[in-house]
Amino acid sequence: MIQNGIKTRVVGVDISLERTSIGIVDIRGEIIATCYFTTANHPVIGDYLAVLCEHIQQLVEQNGGFESVRSVGICVPSGNFRTSSIENPPNLPWKGVIPLAAMLRDRLGLAVALANDAHAKALGEQTFGAAHGMRDFAIVSIGHGLGSCFFSNGVPHLGYDGFAGEVGHTCFVPNGRQCGCGKKGCLEAYVAANGIIQNAKDIMAERSEPSKMREVEVLTPHIIHEFCEMGDELAIETYRRTGYYLGLGLAGYASILNPEAIVFTGGIAQAGKWLLEPANQTFEEHIFHNIQGRVKFVVSNLENRTRNMLGASVLAWDVKEYSLFK
Ligand SMILES: [Zn+2]
Repeated sequence: MIQNGIKTRVVGVDISLERTSIGIVDIRGEIIATCYFTTANHPVIGDYLAVLCEHIQQLVEQNGGFESVRSVGICVPSGNFRTSSIENPPNLPWKGVIPLAAMLRDRLGLAVALANDAHAKALGEQTFGAAHGMRDFAIVSIGHGLGSCFFSNGVPHLGYDGFAGEVGHTCFVPNGRQCGCGKKGCLEAYVAANGIIQNAKDIMAERSEPSKMREVEVLTPHIIHEFCEMGDELAIETYRRTGYYLGLGLAGYASILNPEAIVFTGGIAQAGKWLLEPANQTFEEHIFHNIQGRVKFVVSNLENRTRNMLGASVLAWDVKEYSLFK
């Protein structure tokens, strides 16, 4: 078979509760055009699929048409690469198992690959970001949840069912805080967004000093971070304690994996030194002695949605090409 020319573009889709972002990405990783819509406005999956298709079609048609587009990649929380489905997502509007890649493929007539956000982020960091050139590393994404994916010998380790890397749902405190997954005491419940807010409340209850945190009606990790910058001692203590928990959890994880680096992504990682210095200190105190001082902590410098879209594009390049018309 003689093929004239190659397709030089893919579509990368990044789905989060707040927003679905769509980008056309070329073969060199340049994002040609983007559009987005609010995910939560479409609680019925059929409606969501229709809106997603409309946006993809419109974006592609306005930017060179489908002739140059090879495939689609999707980055989504609770996505399973092995089944190409979203499975029981706690942080999205839909319930159950949703075979989104197959649904989208049938609507668009293009190959579609799907993976969970940590997996796609890891691909984005390995191809375009902080993990470039690394063969053994872990991504830790801290936002609403604590997601992770690790690469072993250059490839992502997905596990038998596709759920490897769920360090956020390893038990940190037996019978501890309620986690969004339904279990109690998961690491995520101590170090992701709600966990940080709970740590702040615990500290305010334990101590009597004044704090700006006491004057705020709705605390968020971002506000607590801002108070750290202003020198608020209880805010600093909130991230110090969160870092202690995180370092302890990750020391166990890294002792099993022996990664070259842990790359931090997600909104909470923006707290930078307030979180990562105490985390690294605890991490080094608890990690297996022969790799002590050897695992790098790296904060991603790619913008979150850009990285996720690029990671989705890496997935798209890897899927076998498909067309209804061949
Ligand atoms: Zn959990």
